[in-house]
Amino acid sequence: MSIPKTQKAIIFEKNGGELQYKDIPVPTPEPDQILINVKYSGVCHTDLHAWKGDWPLPTKLPLVGGHEGAGVVVAKGANVTNFEIGDYAGIKWLNSSCLGCEFCNKGAESCCPKPVLSGYTHDGSFQQYATANAVHAAKIPKGTDLAQVAPVLCAGITVYKALKTCDARAGEWVAITGAGGGLGSLAVQYAKAMGFRPIAIDAGDDKKKLCLDLGAEGFVDFKTSPDLGKEIVELTNGGPHAVIHLAVAEAAVTQSTEYVRPTGTIVLVGLPGGAYVKSEIFSHVVKAINIKGSYVGNRADTAEALDFYARGVVKSNAKVIPLSELPKVYELMEQGKAVGRYVVDTSK
Ligand code: NAD
Ligand code: ZN
Repeated sequence: MSIPKTQKAIIFEKNGGELQYKDIPVPTPEPDQILINVKYSGVCHTDLHAWKGDWPLPTKLPLVGGHEGAGVVVAKGANVTNFEIGDYAGIKWLNSSCLGCEFCNKGAESCCPKPVLSGYTHDGSFQQYATANAVHAAKIPKGTDLAQVAPVLCAGITVYKALKTCDARAGEWVAITGAGGGLGSLAVQYAKAMGFRPIAIDAGDDKKKLCLDLGAEGFVDFKTSPDLGKEIVELTNGGPHAVIHLAVAEAAVTQSTEYVRPTGTIVLVGLPGGAYVKSEIFSHVVKAINIKGSYVGNRADTAEALDFYARGVVKSNAKVIPLSELPKVYELMEQGKAVGRYVVDTSK
């Protein structure tokens, strides 16, 4: 397979700076890495946070963002035994971890103190050729639609893991904030596939239609509802057993401490910068509620999340646009107007 010396990428020099679509060198894989010819990459709100520099953790600069890359292995380092040239592979947020610490040993590798993060501390999938640690890279079955599977590589894994840890049982209500966004559109489907009864919370008719089409049993519009908490409690006959927060909004979390069902669990996934959870202690205690964080997923969660996709029980419904148009997606996301997930085609 002939590998060019240079390639197209979207790169920025400083946080919030110009998103340049230009030619950059193709990276060479380290002994434990594969080089993936990225065909498609999903655009996650995390990429927008990274570009803007929203979080206390600094990004690498200059940076190529992107961490939902799906493509074909075109080269591999000397130590790689689990991928062959021509295999399909996926780039995840957790590009690599040490695999030797307490957290890696327990399968909580996203909590490794020495993580390498795609599109954050390591150049990601908004380029045509990207490197990934072979042990951490996702295995994608041959014949998979690479454009449509891309969003599973972050959004799918993340929401699947959050639902796995939300303590709800089959038949119970799960409310999802940000349900009409990228993570949300997958969360509604995973929730359904896992036997839960999803209630979608987001805004506008387009997102309402998407959520109901994907299987949500109800939709509550956080912008127009006269009393959001009351509406959710009525819909779920006493409050949802779990709430999955994908909204990039501190207020949504505070509100959920009031409407969550007694003994229920609130799972924090969305990452608004500088935000805090506020829960009134008296009702928190007497309702015996739980609040926990959930951060992407491990390698087993990755394989399981991809299996739901392979079986056709979740679909990504991604809209494909040229890589050169990435800034337009950031604009839409910023305005809360991105319905579902956008995927970039790296060949354009
Ligand atoms: P997105 O922009 O596609 O979707 C966010 C949605 O939230 C939008 O549809 C928006 O309308 C909605 N929203 C905004 N305010 C709301 C409110 N008050 N109530 C209900 N809905 C509201 O973003 P995304 O790509 O789905 O990512 C969502 C968040 O998840 C980001 O902060 C991202 O960084 C984070 N994330 C976390 C993890 C993790 O492992 N914890 C992984 C991936 C992404
Ligand atoms: Zn992501």
